[in-house]
Amino acid sequence: MPKKKPHQPKKPRATRRPDAVTPASPCPCGRDATYGDCCGACHTGHAAAPTPERLMRSRYSAFAVGDAGYLLRTWHPRTRPAGLEFDVDQRWTGLEILGTTGGSAFHDEGTVEFRAHYTLHGQADSQYENSRFVREDGRWLYVDALPSA
Ligand SMILES: [Zn+2]
Repeated sequence: MPKKKPHQPKKPRATRRPDAVTPASPCPCGRDATYGDCCGACHTGHAAAPTPERLMRSRYSAFAVGDAGYLLRTWHPRTRPAGLEFDVDQRWTGLEILGTTGGSAFHDEGTVEFRAHYTLHGQADSQYENSRFVREDGRWLYVDALPSA
């Protein structure tokens, strides 16, 4: 009698890719603009984020579309990790900018306080951070998270 194959536990349904974002899609960062005109222009290198808030938005969108290269390029070399891995079950669902400091044309530093919403394994959650940014050679870079007060 042929041996019965052990029952294979069903793998969790194949990793769901982030929803496809095209240049004509609404930008994941929530600004009233298409991805191509907003964060997409930063991701492709056609535009540089003019303020820490825009850099924060473009970094959030990079998480949403899975652009690790952009996240690393906009990370200060002093604090940049060697690499990034995305959790394929994590889907970014919205960004709230709670406040900003500095970051104007007259500043070389700025902070952006935000809450990023996501679902992980279908469970809604959010991440709060007050991020620090510096401008070097005309480009805004993410440095790190300020310790929460
Ligand atoms: Zn955007």
